[in-house]
Amino acid sequence: MIDVVLLRDEPLARHTAMRVGGPCDALLVVHRESALLEAIEVASEWGTVTWLGHGTRLAVRDGGVSGVFLRLGTDFAQIDRTHGGAWTVGASVPVPALLEAARGAGLSGVERLAGVPGSFGAALAAEEDLEAIVQSVRFVHRGRIRQGSLEEARKGRASRLILSATLALTPSTSGAVRDAMKAARAARLPPGSFWKEPKGGRLRRRLVRSGLGDVRIRKAMIPARAPELIVNLGGARSADIDLLAKSAKDRVKQHTGVVLEPRIRWLGQR
Ligand SMILES: Cc1cc2nc3c(=O)[nH]c(=O)nc-3n(C[C@H](O)[C@H](O)[C@H](O)COP(=O)(O)OP(=O)(O)OC[C@H]3O[C@@H](n4cnc5c(N)ncnc54)[C@H](O)[C@@H]3O)c2cc1C
Repeated sequence: MIDVVLLRDEPLARHTAMRVGGPCDALLVVHRESALLEAIEVASEWGTVTWLGHGTRLAVRDGGVSGVFLRLGTDFAQIDRTHGGAWTVGASVPVPALLEAARGAGLSGVERLAGVPGSFGAALAAEEDLEAIVQSVRFVHRGRIRQGSLEEARKGRASRLILSATLALTPSTSGAVRDAMKAARAARLPPGSFWKEPKGGRLRRRLVRSGLGDVRIRKAMIPARAPELIVNLGGARSADIDLLAKSAKDRVKQHTGVVLEPRIRWLGQR
């Protein structure tokens, strides 16, 4: 089994949900935990290191971005279910896969994550209230693997790579868990929403009122059925997405007085 895959000048369009973006200096995919600390050390000597999850909230501009991206692979994509409801979940596990496993086992606790896209590690790193279900977190800090609380793992978050977390799940039934997930999913924006929910809510209604739907700039499009999305029809550039987002933002401000904020973190040069 390969420990680490190194891809030089790798276009990040291949690794982000937006499917746009030029190359980074290098992308490291670390499959074995035994190779992780050395990989981070070497990567840090090459330049700034950015942790990459499943790329649903990161997008890179056409000019690319300098530095190294590090993604967690096989060893971090496992769920250890050997201790009852105390599941240890790897950072690379997709949130939807974790939800499905918990539903199948009839265990309650992660329902609130229904509708959240991307990797479990990135969800843990996000500023949301998950303390109640997280018993402990393993993370990398200053060249060492540590175990601590979620709060500790998030401190100075940019420099701490989350590897896994042990959750406290409680017995329930698959049906009850499924219903709770359905309710949680209905209460949030679709997973691919380009925008954060504005103050006062009603994102979709505001976009529709502003005449956004089936608006297109080259290969980037806002679909009428789900105007909170910006879809890459294939071959869009970050500049197209930018322009479409800017025009949507301007229109919503003009028609509803609300200033929209993107959910996606843009990196790199235009
Ligand atoms: C309770 C809750 C509710 C949420 N609700 C929504 C929602 O309704 N809709 C929505 O779109 N999003 C929501 N989010 C945010 C969403 O979970 C994250 O944005 C998403 O998980 C990104 O996953 P990704 O793997 O695609 O991350 P990426 O896009 O790859 O990265 C996103 C950020 O996380 C960092 N990161 C990635 N992996 C790690 C790691 N292992 N350790 C530390 N940092 C890391 C990256 O450096 C980057 O800054 C919610 C999060 C939580 C916790």
